[in-house]
Amino acid sequence: SRKFFVGGNWKCNGTVDEVKKICCMLNNGEVPCPNHIVKSMLRTDFQVAAQNCWKGKGGAFTGEISAEMLANLHVPWVILGHSERRQLCGETDAIVAEKTAYALDNGLKVCLCVGETLEERERNETGAVVARQTAAVASKICCWANVVIAYEPIWAIGTGKVATPQQAQEVHYNLRKWLDCYVSPHVAMNMRIIYGGSVTAANCKEIGANPDVDGFLVGGASLKEDFIAILNARN
Ligand code: 13P
Repeated sequence: SRKFFVGGNWKCNGTVDEVKKICCMLNNGEVPCPNHIVKSMLRTDFQVAAQNCWKGKGGAFTGEISAEMLANLHVPWVILGHSERRQLCGETDAIVAEKTAYALDNGLKVCLCVGETLEERERNETGAVVARQTAAVASKICCWANVVIAYEPIWAIGTGKVATPQQAQEVHYNLRKWLDCYVSPHVAMNMRIIYGGSVTAANCKEIGANPDVDGFLVGGASLKEDFIAILNARN
C-alpha cells in the first residue's frame, strides 16, 4: 500500500512574514503525519524540499545549490524537472535525468515532475511525452525507492483549469503500466504518482479518490489555509 504524499510547492513566493504565517497554519493544522527530523520553522513531521539543484558535484556554479549542500543542510527532498524549470530555464530530459541520478546518489529523495503541454495533449501525445520524460530518468538510475513522480499537465498549472479525475487517473494508470513494463512490476506497484495542477480544497477529494493518484503537488493553494484540507484529502 502506497502512503499518500502531498507536497506544497511555494515556488518563488513568500516574505519572511508570509512564510511564518504559512508555517504557523501548518503547525496548527490537524494533520496526521509520521515523524521526521528536519531543521526548519516547521513542525518536525513535515519534510522540506528544495525546488531544484545542480546536476553534479558542487563547485564554481554561481547561483546554484548542490545536492551535497542540500543533504548537508538536512533538506531531505528536491523537486526536479518542474515544467517551469524545463520551460523557463532550458532543462532538457537529459539534464533532469542527470540531476535525478546525482541527487539520489547523494542521499536526497526526488520528486520528479513530468507532464505535457496543451498542444501535446491535443495531439494525443500525453502518454508518449510522460513516458519519454520518465524513460530519460530510467536510463540513468536503477533504484527508484526514493522517487515520487508528480504528473503535472502544464495546461493545468496555475491556470485554475484542473485535470478531470478521469484524465489524472488515465495518465497515472498508463505511467504505472509503463513502469511495470520498462522498469519493474515492483517499482510500478510501489511508485507514488502524485498529481499537480490547480489542486484546491474543493477538487482534491475527487481527484485523490482515484486508485492511481497517490497524492498531490500543490502550488497556489499550498500558500493558503486550503492546504490543510488538501493534506487531509484521503483522511
Ligand atoms: P498550481 O497548484 O498553482 O496550479 O501549481 C502546481 C504546481 O506547479 C506544483 O508544482
